[in-house]
Amino acid sequence: MAILELRPNCECCDRDLPPDSREAYICTFECTFCHDCTTGVLDGHCPNCLGNLTPRPVRPLAGPVGGLAKYPASTKRVLRAGGCNATPDPSLADTAA
Ligand SMILES: [Zn+2]
Ligand SMILES: [Zn+2]
Repeated sequence: MAILELRPNCECCDRDLPPDSREAYICTFECTFCHDCTTGVLDGHCPNCLGNLTPRPVRPLAGPVGGLAKYPASTKRVLRAGGCNATPDPSLADTAA
């Protein structure tokens, strides 16, 4: 079973995004961004992989499979070098080698 890392911060602006945050957005590689960056400079696309960003699901604390208590969120902060200054162009994803 693959489990989301639930990274603790926005890769662009380093804002805290705790596992219960509904402001977190992720791509399929789980690059993680806040709502402001996703709807602002990123325009809905991950600057790393050019995939689309979607709201991150919230992992419950407990529940039948254990939730956060058993599968805690990542504490390893990931920050993008240079931040995010340009809107990614998703059309490049088709041609990039
Ligand atoms: Zn951000
Ligand atoms: Zn990505």
